[in-house]
This record gives sequence, C-alpha cells and structure tokens, in this order.
Amino acid sequence: MATFLFDQIIFGPVNSRRLGVSLGVNLLPTTSKFCNFNCIYCECGWTPGKGQMKSDFHSVEDVIKRLEIFIKDYRADNKIIDTITFAGNGEPTLHPKFEEMIDRTILLRDLYYPKAAISVLSNATMLQSEKVVRALKKVNNKILKLDSAVEETALQMNQPLGKYSISKIEEQLGQFNHQFILQTMFLKGDYNQKPIDNTTDQEVDAYLELLDRIRPEKVMIYTIARDTPAESLEKISTKKMNEIADRIRALSIEVEVSL
Ligand code: SF4
Repeated sequence: MATFLFDQIIFGPVNSRRLGVSLGVNLLPTTSKFCNFNCIYCECGWTPGKGQMKSDFHSVEDVIKRLEIFIKDYRADNKIIDTITFAGNGEPTLHPKFEEMIDRTILLRDLYYPKAAISVLSNATMLQSEKVVRALKKVNNKILKLDSAVEETALQMNQPLGKYSISKIEEQLGQFNHQFILQTMFLKGDYNQKPIDNTTDQEVDAYLELLDRIRPEKVMIYTIARDTPAESLEKISTKKMNEIADRIRALSIEVEVSL
C-alpha cells in the first residue's frame, strides 16, 4: 500500500489534526525508515530488517542550520507556527545527539517563535536513557505511544525489535510526574493470520486501569487515517472512538479524538 517517507529534514508546516500549524523536524535518514518498532499501521511503511537500516543521521549543525533558515524566513513573512514537532521517518529519540538537538531548537524557538511549543512524537522505548528523559522534560509536548495495556496486543501492533515490557514503560513514565501526553492508536483487523482488536471490552478495561495508574496530562486517541503496511486493518467507527473517549473522560483525564 502507499506508505511514504519524508524526503526532507525540515518538512511542512502542516495543519496537524492534533497540534495545529506544525513544522516538522525529521532527525532520521531521509532515504530510509529508522525505528526500533515495526508498527503494522506505520505510515512510513515496514521497518527495514536488522543490518539494512541506514543510520546516516543528520548532524546537529546541519539540522539546526536548516531549521534556522526556514523559521527566520517564515517569521519575516509573518506566518504562524504553533509547534516545532520532532517526528518523521522513525523514532527521533534514537538520534545519538537528541538532547543537543532539543537544546539548540529551544534556543531558536525562543528567538524566533517564543510562543510556539516544541513537541516530540516518540514510542517511549528510550526512557531508560537519562539523556533522552532529560531532553523530553525540556519540551512542551512529550507525546508518548502506548497502544495497548495487554502485552500480547502491543507486541502484535508494534512488533518491537528489542525487548518490550509494558510494566517497564509504566514505571519509566513515572519520571515525568504526569507531565506527558499518551498517544494510542485504535484499530482492528488481522495480521499474520491472527485477529487483532484493541477496542474489545477486555482491552479497553485494561487500558483504562493503566491510564488511571499513570494519569497522563492528556490522552490522544486516533485511528487509521491513511494507508497502512498491513493491508487488512480497519478504521474504528466514530461511535466506538467516542465511547472510548467518554470512558477516559470519566476518569477526569483530558482526551482528544482524531478520526
Ligand atoms: S513507532 Fe512510529 S515510526 Fe516507529 S514503526 Fe511505529 S508508527 Fe512507525
């Protein structure tokens, strides 16, 4: 199916479903996806096999120079940027200089767009790294993925390349003192001849129990909006998404639904 890669380091701005006018920064290679997950719904397509992933990361100087050129011109034209968002062809926190990228971006943001937020979309697998946690604590929106509270389902949806444990992630999220946004994809279908559905009562009950323990500042739930690498996946109905959202609100946790 028609998945795609970002062929630029700085991309957009796009009108994001969730973040407003969002200027993207892709720290990952522009010719290949680089991630330690292989989500069956990833808009960038399948993750290349081990040994085939290109780790030609962009240098801090290169990224910051391009970012400054862009936002300087953009501001000169009086155009709006609501957020500078680290996303792109994989997992941004895998960049070896992630913290330095964040520090330098904060300086640029303060200079040119002091009201803009800095957002990071992450799969939350690097929270064992002090440097990554320190960097994430400096940004406004740490949007961290957790697709199911049932480990078997999370493994099926995300196909991590290394070890993955929900209880470990739950413990590590505690480092943010509730100051993070949890992001969850809801879908159903089948993959590798196994049914998958993270909207069943059992799934949602377990998810809500986990939410009540970790209590993020906000939850963003979404469903499939574009082509996915696994072809048999289905979008969740608006009615079902709203039912899940209502149950999250009943816990007094803010929720945003993207359909
Ligand atoms: S974590 Fe994000 S980039 Fe990585 S495979 Fe999943 S959806 Fe794609």
